[in-house]
Amino acid sequence: MSAMPSNPILKLPNLPDDAVDLSSIYASFQRLQAPASHGVGNAFHGVGDAFPEAGELAGLFFGDPGSGNHAENALLRTAAEQEFADTGYSPYSFLRDQPITYSGRETFDVQAIRRDFPILHQKVNGKDLIWFDNAATTQKPAQVIDAIRRYYESDNSNIHRASHTLAARATDGYEGAREKVRRFINAPSADEVIFVRGTTEGINLVAQTYGRKLIRPGDEIIISTLDHHANIVPWQQLAKERGAALRVIPVNDRGEVILEAYESLLSPRTKMVSFAQVNNTFGTVSPAKIMVEMAKRYGARVLIDGAQSVPHAPVDVQELDVDFFAFSGHKIYAPNGIGVVYGKKELLELIPPWQGGGNMIKDVTFEETIFNVPPHKFEAGTPNVADAIGLGAALDYVSRTGIHNIERYERYLTEYARQALEQVDGIRLIGNPRDRVSVVSFVVPGIPAPEVGALLDKEGIALRAGHHCAQPALRRMGVEATVRPSFSFYNTTTEIDRLVEAVRKIAING
Ligand code: PMP
Repeated sequence: MSAMPSNPILKLPNLPDDAVDLSSIYASFQRLQAPASHGVGNAFHGVGDAFPEAGELAGLFFGDPGSGNHAENALLRTAAEQEFADTGYSPYSFLRDQPITYSGRETFDVQAIRRDFPILHQKVNGKDLIWFDNAATTQKPAQVIDAIRRYYESDNSNIHRASHTLAARATDGYEGAREKVRRFINAPSADEVIFVRGTTEGINLVAQTYGRKLIRPGDEIIISTLDHHANIVPWQQLAKERGAALRVIPVNDRGEVILEAYESLLSPRTKMVSFAQVNNTFGTVSPAKIMVEMAKRYGARVLIDGAQSVPHAPVDVQELDVDFFAFSGHKIYAPNGIGVVYGKKELLELIPPWQGGGNMIKDVTFEETIFNVPPHKFEAGTPNVADAIGLGAALDYVSRTGIHNIERYERYLTEYARQALEQVDGIRLIGNPRDRVSVVSFVVPGIPAPEVGALLDKEGIALRAGHHCAQPALRRMGVEATVRPSFSFYNTTTEIDRLVEAVRKIAING
């Protein structure tokens, strides 16, 4: 058989590259397929032309994100991990940044993708830049940069209020982007898609409109220990203002929400539940659909902070049956300063506008204003037309690549990084959620996280080292700061190998 792709870090001591009998390992995995009801084994069919068996194994290992059944996938992954541990073989050593064919149809070619991102091709401190700060912000493909340039070169205008051609083009571009967002998150209507600056503004909008109108003294708002400050502070402020109470879902030592504890917090007093679908410090994927269902049993409204979920997995607001959903463009390959809050139509009609000014009105006299209909009611003033168009181009890019392909590949990168980092002496991984994506957090005891970040920068590796705007989540794990590489579909295992080598040196010399 042909030689396995070599992996300097994960090479097996007892199974040399050219002597591995994959078929026997594969056979031992067949039985894992049996309990899986959703065709998990098919997910990675044909991965890597040279190593079809590897594809099958990887499929078993990573499950089928397309099924949307993350909990089941996570369980299966844990079982598969155990099997791999027994064989002594690493599931992460199969694929080496080569084109991957999914189900023999779509091909995911990371090298081709990388060519679309101009910023990745530069040296920082004399080394090839490695961008592992994707949870903070993502880089932009040429297609997004071009869309913005084209807009300013040929279509720039204020929208909605003029009769000339450029205004019509700009309006079409802006409203076209709204429709692209609608399709991407499967909202029933584009009128339920409000453009804001980002997740932070989206959550504040809901807190200040829905919250101010409908949260009363004695009511309760539930958030999670895993939340970003953007989903803590606005609700804390509102609770203080309205005399309501903030309740917090605890997490276990792995960094997962404890559903039984959440259940016991819910009551008829619960008026709002708001939580991050994917956490930004440990990469925890929370069981959002189940959590929404639980809240609905008590008549509570639910907001999902999708800042870290939308870039990494398919989101369907109708399937989630969520009332509000917020995300940031800049975390999904779109420009800064544009984001979205989705809201169910009946709620958007019920709640008051947030800011007053142009665009959000139907008629104004000094005595009274008649407000516009949603979404315009929530978009006072001249909107960020160019960046909305950029967001539309980014969603086109992601859709062309395939969000399922992206999820599969990023889960693979995440597991690859976790396993490699687990083998580095002198570092400690923080959090170990079973369902996770994109993020790994660790500390090097004795060296402050920002110092580790600065040392990695010298190697051209950009990542975040600090509290990640989630202090309660980190403190729950007994730390104030972590080093946090976070992965995108333009990253490679070769880059992860470089990170691991650099961390190993820091841990030894530090
Ligand atoms: N929620 C989560 C989970 C995040 O990771 C972030 C950004 N780090 C935010 C909210 C806030 O996003 P933004 O700063 O784009 O408003």
